[in-house]
Amino acid sequence: MSTGRSASSPVSLVIPPSPFLADERVFPFIGVLKVASVLEAAGVPVDILDCSGYANYQDLLLEYLDQHRDMDWFGITATTPQLPNAVELLHTIREQRPQARVTVGGPHATLTTAAWKMDQEKGLRGRGSIAYDQLTSLFDCVVAGDGEEAVFRALGVNQPQLIDADDLHSDLFLKRGSLEDFPYPARQLIDLASYHYTIDGHPATSLIGQLGCPFKCGFCGGRDAASFRFIRTRRPEHIAQEIRHLHSVYGYTGYMFYDDELNVTPRGLEDLCGALIALQDELGTEMRFRGFVKAELFTERQAAAMYKAGFRVLLSGVESGSDRILAAMEKRTTAEINSRCLRLARDAGMEFKALMSIGHPGESRRTVVESVEWVLREQPNEVDWTVITQYPGSPYFDHSVRVSGQRGTWVYETMAGELLYSREVDYTREAEFYKGVSGSYVSYVWTPDLSADTLVWERDEAERVTRAALGMPPIQSIAAEQFEHSMGQGLLPARVLRSTRETMAVSH
Ligand code: SF4
Repeated sequence: MSTGRSASSPVSLVIPPSPFLADERVFPFIGVLKVASVLEAAGVPVDILDCSGYANYQDLLLEYLDQHRDMDWFGITATTPQLPNAVELLHTIREQRPQARVTVGGPHATLTTAAWKMDQEKGLRGRGSIAYDQLTSLFDCVVAGDGEEAVFRALGVNQPQLIDADDLHSDLFLKRGSLEDFPYPARQLIDLASYHYTIDGHPATSLIGQLGCPFKCGFCGGRDAASFRFIRTRRPEHIAQEIRHLHSVYGYTGYMFYDDELNVTPRGLEDLCGALIALQDELGTEMRFRGFVKAELFTERQAAAMYKAGFRVLLSGVESGSDRILAAMEKRTTAEINSRCLRLARDAGMEFKALMSIGHPGESRRTVVESVEWVLREQPNEVDWTVITQYPGSPYFDHSVRVSGQRGTWVYETMAGELLYSREVDYTREAEFYKGVSGSYVSYVWTPDLSADTLVWERDEAERVTRAALGMPPIQSIAAEQFEHSMGQGLLPARVLRSTRETMAVSH
């Protein structure tokens, strides 16, 4: 369909709220900021409406639409749990501005498209197809995969229903070695100061050094999506340059690496640490870092390099204390490998945060106890417990089959015959599966031994027992804010809306 837009027509990128998070303004969504930066570099005027942390986000959008009557192109980014809010935003745009084109991009669009493509290959109509059809029936255009090049196709005339950049052979897929050709994420288009995080007392923000993880953990989204699996790195010096930029513009001395796993390439982590050390020497500033590592690839040399560079806390997806469950999820680790990883971190002087999960194929009371015992025995400094959620694009989701005679029930079976059942979820409506706060979890999965409700109870208990044993306080939720119409005297505040239009007007 022709949009009739010119290359200089403004676009609006919308970040929906994430009410499932305990605190919505901790780390910003980097992907949408990368898209904004390439648009800005190309001279396309960009507004970013950041609804993070606002319960009455629809009021923000209505106010925005009222103030920007020329805006007729919207791009909404969404993770799977953000989708219900993204759909609400879409409906409001449709009501208020029926002629506007609305594109959806981000992780949910990418993962759902990958799941649909897998169904196509198998010649069946599975869950991926259902989720994909829902998405394409709602939005004018779906962008799957890297948005940096794809967004220009989405802006063009004859906007297609699907722009598939999540394909190794697509010219829209960012090739290895090309990440450095793009500008840094446009963090100036959000109110970064309103995102609060500290590492060891250092004011901190997040960045992504490299993309992709080639492993196949059953619960992890994107195992069948090229843009999630294919490793694409930047030179360590380029990553250090981005940190130098963030330090000089914002003054941050703490950085959370949101790479899937920092040590998936040989020597990559050690080289990164070398660049971080050189940067701090050059600036005469001490910095602190955090990041995730894959336990079986973790070495003494990596641990020593990380400590020297300023890492003081290591995060690792331990997931379970049961070797049987670790095998069922294809984690390629064992309880002993995870213990060894923790010891290496400790011996190097770092703390260890264990990320645990319950609700894998074959999970039973016994295996949950093994997980709790692992935590109590190894005493990580911090622990986090979640109930498994089946996201489109994860093996648990993509490879589940319908249970005959039980409407809306699916089952995933491992090679060893371990089972994980799940209820069909309408991702456009339900986001209650991850709340982050004890007492508010909902499970849509269950095993032959543990019902969905029991899994939630086991999670809450595991969290209560282990956090108490480790001396950790209960998780608190930060209440979402209400947008007050008076706060900007009729204009949306900079905490919510930022635009390149002002800077472009000044520079032209
Ligand atoms: S959980 Fe970590 S190691 Fe496993 S596939 Fe996902 S990113 Fe890779």
